[in-house]
Amino acid sequence: MPSGKIIKALSGFYYVLDGDKIVQCRGRGVFRKNKVTPLVGDSVVYQAENITDGYILEVNERKNELIRPPIANVDQAILVFSAVEPDFSTALLDRFLVLIEDNEIEPIIVVSKMDLASSGSKDELDQYIKDYEAMGYTVIATSSVTSDGTERLLPFLEDKISVFAGQSGVGKSSLLNAINPELELKTNDISTHLGRGKHTTRHVELIHIGTGLVADTPGFSSLEFIEIEAERLSYCFPEIHKTGELCKFRGCLHDKEPKCAVKGAVEDGVIPDYRYHHYIQFLDEIRERKPRY
Ligand code: GDP
Ligand code: ZN
Repeated sequence: MPSGKIIKALSGFYYVLDGDKIVQCRGRGVFRKNKVTPLVGDSVVYQAENITDGYILEVNERKNELIRPPIANVDQAILVFSAVEPDFSTALLDRFLVLIEDNEIEPIIVVSKMDLASSGSKDELDQYIKDYEAMGYTVIATSSVTSDGTERLLPFLEDKISVFAGQSGVGKSSLLNAINPELELKTNDISTHLGRGKHTTRHVELIHIGTGLVADTPGFSSLEFIEIEAERLSYCFPEIHKTGELCKFRGCLHDKEPKCAVKGAVEDGVIPDYRYHHYIQFLDEIRERKPRY
């Protein structure tokens, strides 16, 4: 049986990409029994009725599933944070990183609108970029106006399903347009981002950029740590997790023990103190939401 990937779902039809052809499929049959509703991003087995039409027989097991946008099997999130307008925020970036790490999605950090950064703020941003690179993250500084850095992003999209995420107005659409001018996604002035809700459309589609597939709607609108356990949080901070393995206190959450290895690394400047601060802040949020008894 032929197989492919759903790249679009609309009015009861699933558009299955199989090689370089797209087959318009209806959902029928087996997958209904185990109550799986096919999602964009799903890898499926289908039965062809003719060259252009068919129906889905089976939905293969998913590695993950986002709610907003509703996409399965996301490999990678491109986290777009502008240098200015709005100002770069490590607090918000760390929040996104935790959610992405928790979903086992690979993050790529983009610092956009670098052309707008003043020389003072540029030094500060360069330091942040170095910090996050030292934690093991890929960080790309870009400008959609000068196109600086945009070509560095392209190879990361190859053969993957990627979702762009980040606040409204940081330049996600502009960036997508800069790396693929044929797209002509609508960009928005900052003013239109304030007030009325944007991205209300439920429709989601994966678009080709090179050999990659990219969601045409941004992801991760909800940033609450609803499902994360306190014990799991350190796994979402790679440098805290790494140092935490040297911590001699069993089950240490690195918040109370005075001689904790993580605390030591923060004092020595090995772990940036803003990262530790966010870790503690998120830990408190998780505890407040979920009393343990
Ligand atoms: P989105 O909401 O994240 O998709 O953001 P948009 O791509 O719609 O961009 C929001 C605003 O920022 C628009 O006015 C863009 O022209 C502007 N913008 C986006 N990227 C850049 C950039 O690299 N440099 C400058 N100077 N402005 C940018
Ligand atoms: Zn510890």
